[in-house]
Amino acid sequence: EKYVYSWGGGTAEGNATMKQELGGKGANLAEMTTIGVPVPPGFTVSTKVCGYYYSHNETLPSTLEAEITEHIARLEKNKGATFGDLENPLLVSVRSGAAVSMPGMMDTVLNLGLNDDVAAAMGKKINNERMAYDSYRRFINMFGDVVMGVDHHKFEVKLSEAKKKAGVQNDNELSADELKEVCQEYKKVYEAETGEAFPTDARDQLDKSIMAVIKSWMTPRAELYRQKEKIFGLEGTAVNVQAMAFGNMGQDSGTGVAFTRDPSLGTNEFYGEFLVDAQGEDVVAGIRTPMPIKEMKTVWPDIYKELDDIRLKLEKHYGDMQDVEFTIEKGKLYMLQTRTGKRTGLAAVKIAWDMVQEGKISKEEALKRIDGDHLNQLLFPILNPSEKASAISDNRLFSTGLPAGPGAATGQVVFTADDAVAWHKQGKNVILVRKETSPEDVAGMASAEACITSTGGMTSHAAVVARSWGKCCVVGAGDLAIDYDAKTVTCNGMTVKEGDILAVDGSTGEMIVGEIPTSASPVIAGVVDGDTEAQKTEVFKMFNDIMNWADGVKKLTVRTNADSPRDSKVARALGAQGIGLCRTEHMFFEGDRVWSVRKMILAESEEARKEAIAELLPYQREDFEGIFKEMDGYGCTIRLLDPPLHEFLPGDEAGMKEMAERMNVDISVVKEKIESLHELNPMLGHRGCRLSITYPEICVMQAQAIIEAACNEAKKGTVVKPEIMVPLIGKEEEFQILAKIIRETADAIIAERGVDVSYQVGTMMEIPRATLVADKVSGGDAGAEFFSFGTNDLTQMTFGYSRDDIGSFLPEYLDQKILREDPFQSIDQEGVGYLVERGVTLGRQGRPGLKCGVCGEHGGDPASVKFFHGVGLDYVSCSPYRVPIARLAAAQAVI
Ligand code: PEP
Ligand code: MG
Repeated sequence: EKYVYSWGGGTAEGNATMKQELGGKGANLAEMTTIGVPVPPGFTVSTKVCGYYYSHNETLPSTLEAEITEHIARLEKNKGATFGDLENPLLVSVRSGAAVSMPGMMDTVLNLGLNDDVAAAMGKKINNERMAYDSYRRFINMFGDVVMGVDHHKFEVKLSEAKKKAGVQNDNELSADELKEVCQEYKKVYEAETGEAFPTDARDQLDKSIMAVIKSWMTPRAELYRQKEKIFGLEGTAVNVQAMAFGNMGQDSGTGVAFTRDPSLGTNEFYGEFLVDAQGEDVVAGIRTPMPIKEMKTVWPDIYKELDDIRLKLEKHYGDMQDVEFTIEKGKLYMLQTRTGKRTGLAAVKIAWDMVQEGKISKEEALKRIDGDHLNQLLFPILNPSEKASAISDNRLFSTGLPAGPGAATGQVVFTADDAVAWHKQGKNVILVRKETSPEDVAGMASAEACITSTGGMTSHAAVVARSWGKCCVVGAGDLAIDYDAKTVTCNGMTVKEGDILAVDGSTGEMIVGEIPTSASPVIAGVVDGDTEAQKTEVFKMFNDIMNWADGVKKLTVRTNADSPRDSKVARALGAQGIGLCRTEHMFFEGDRVWSVRKMILAESEEARKEAIAELLPYQREDFEGIFKEMDGYGCTIRLLDPPLHEFLPGDEAGMKEMAERMNVDISVVKEKIESLHELNPMLGHRGCRLSITYPEICVMQAQAIIEAACNEAKKGTVVKPEIMVPLIGKEEEFQILAKIIRETADAIIAERGVDVSYQVGTMMEIPRATLVADKVSGGDAGAEFFSFGTNDLTQMTFGYSRDDIGSFLPEYLDQKILREDPFQSIDQEGVGYLVERGVTLGRQGRPGLKCGVCGEHGGDPASVKFFHGVGLDYVSCSPYRVPIARLAAAQAVI
């Protein structure tokens, strides 16, 4: 088995299609080499080695050592330098790289191959001792930190001491001798912390570093990132060993990171940052604030031109926006990485849309490049513009940094990632303020509404992570004076303490002291509220185009779960084609209606119950009229009352007292009723169709309200398509009994009114048993005319996990990898999904062409939508604001 792949001198053993084996970085280094982009030579240890290591009791393949030896020899030949050689030493970088990029998750070691002798010889040879020792001290630090787990801070302390002693501010002001001294100090730190001497042999250094990369695959932070990003099924990380290019050789050297287009706004402009006389990690680590790439035109015009040509070449070759790393060594440009660039939702939409206009990609390809989260970000809130303007004129503008992550947020300031996690757990909205962030902070960042850093650029750790999560983020706000000990941040004459409120605008980089309400995005304003100013924005136009493209290819219909005319209107504006679920009980909680419901519950006789129910009729009818009107021409699935009745009763003494007074009974009557309705397992209790089986009056009233509303609206010229739905059936008899009542009630009204209204009666499929006998449920004249899979209850009852209490054990289940993700969020395809598939197949055997949809939460989850497309559902139904995402996912399912 081949485990190692070389590249260099214009040829490579790998290519861009080999991401699974070589990781994204390794595959693209090989590809760049073969297309003539300048790349320092190197080799990749395949992800198979990492996979092997974890599946073979943490051991390496026996042939690996020899294979690496062979590839080191090739690298030495390609570079014309030798490991440990005093004349011409080979120095390498060691980097991780999985098939999917995980920014900041894995660590890098640079300048490997140095020791006291090599550093001294190299200094003489290149006539630059300063550079040699600067590289050496970085190497000791990185090797110590990354490979051996020595706290980076311990090295930093020594560096600060050296700078203080020398009376300088910046690292690059230290002299060669001072840096040499730093190296010795660093080695002492290393020895003290690890209990062993710093390794001097290059091969030994390399082997240890490769091992460290492999081990970093399983660190908690890497696992957390994969879990958050839902990255599953990878072999592991590859290890890239590459000849060093030195960006720290003086004023004609440097390093940088760039995007071929703006990753925040998506504009077609070269976008990035570089530092003169610096090495790789300096830019990303956010230690010094770099210069914008455009300034390179002035500093190094020729190199800028070459880099810009490479930008165009790479974008053309890969057909998408790239994120590149480069180093300039004494005026010579080297590319160290290219990969598909992460982008904000706005940028994703803009780049895909622009590339269609530029004729570079098809509309289908554009749709594939935008994901649900991207689209969601366009629907993100912004700080209320007028409130923000007045806050700024009140001198509440705290600071302005770089706009690194989208959206806007208001919250309480915290200064550590741990506090962010803890406060968030207490239900607080927090803003995490840091000088810089590192991979250790990701959990805190995930918990925060927004992140702010005082150092670092648009490609710093904070920016990259926040952007990929669509989280509001501002970086490089250099005028913030952060005091971690006092837990304060001071700027512009104001001091914000831990717990104080800060509002953050991720698209402008502004921070404002105090609360500012957020308001809807221009897309929402334009689409939903019909705001004509918003409709003039480019983002509005792009959003509409993309949604139209999606509608052009998707097969699934997207409906919405809506219980009111208002929600129906929003959903229609966002493209919903009908209602997949109207939960009628939600209407029972509006205004004073609950009192009629309570009266019904308290009723002793059928007569009294009918009387109370009659009070509800006009409310329901009116709501249904409004819904039919909004959904003119589209199907509306309206479900009979579903929750257990006790949910409508007061939970506390005061409420019971009030109820007794209003109902004119003794409080003991109320208490008895509550007592009698109490169930140990209400979710499996007297609810769903069981309510209407015992109290058919409820079913009669609801059918009457629906059909009367339909008749009334039809008369006004609305095209009404009522679909009456029975919840929670497990046996076909349950459906048949209620369907008969509904049909009799409906037919009588229609006959009496003489209006031409047709309706359907169907059922929820949310009890596993029902899906297994679905042909009986749909079959025959009395059968169900449509199925709507209630995947919330179906998940609950298939797993036996309470949908309300899964939180108590879910984290542990995720941790122990029993579950990959919350099954209430994304459908469990092999279990719950199988039941859906089975239900559809059987249902259509019972009734050919049976209309089938899903109305559980999964209807708005992209992965689930794709699954539902695959099993042949006719529609998915989701909450109004998820409708655009479902439309996109439905299109992607086809492409
Ligand atoms: C379901 O169970 O999936 C469903 C849509 O119904 P509800 O969430 O109201 O129980
Ligand atoms: Mg349900």
